Amino acid sequence: MNRNRLLIATTNRGKLREVLAFLTGLAVDIESLDDFPDLSVPVEDEDTFEGNARLKALHYARLTDRLTLADDSGLVVDALGGQPGVRSARYAGDQCDDAANNAKMIAGLAGLPVERRTARFCCAMALVDGEQVVATATGEVSGLIVDDARGSNGFGYDPHFLVPELGLTAGEMLPDQKNQISHRGRALRAIRPAIEQIVSQARTDVDDEAG
Ligand code: IMP
Repeated sequence: MNRNRLLIATTNRGKLREVLAFLTGLAVDIESLDDFPDLSVPVEDEDTFEGNARLKALHYARLTDRLTLADDSGLVVDALGGQPGVRSARYAGDQCDDAANNAKMIAGLAGLPVERRTARFCCAMALVDGEQVVATATGEVSGLIVDDARGSNGFGYDPHFLVPELGLTAGEMLPDQKNQISHRGRALRAIRPAIEQIVSQARTDVDDEAG
């Protein structure tokens, strides 16, 4: 296993941008799945975010022999019985895009008053070293779903996710602002020490062998 390189197991540019912002300063070369375009894609068939994050991290670590960090995340809308949930990326069908997913969600909430539009973004992270999941972390952020899209920052469901305390949708937040409060930011803050520990141990081992 190559511990000088950390694979961020995603092709989602929005996620990748947010994850990279949290991993600055780590003594490790960071790669993403864009650096491995020909890998097979695992079937994300677990019914929890953590289950899917583990499955993805194990799959890509096995194929790349890298220390691997995977994220599984999504939007849980109470009035939709928890959907889109673990199917957030494919809510409107296997070939759908963000616009189709948002349109389906907004149609499902038609006519509901604001107090019934509660939702939360959830994120689970899994870190694999060798063939083992060595750390997991989760994060959540609560908000309300608004009909009109607001803001063009972020990705996915962000323009419809209002954080009432800030009076902003996630699509209106600056990247740093979203990272401060987001589900992904919370999970990343929790898992970063585990990455640091493995990377610094790997460097100590290399120094010992050289010395
Ligand atoms: P995954 O790649 O299976 O984890 O799918 C995650 C999906 O959940 C994304 O494609 C988005 O639709 C949605 N999602 C997750 N995190 C966010 C976020 O921070 N903002 C907006 N949408 C998100």
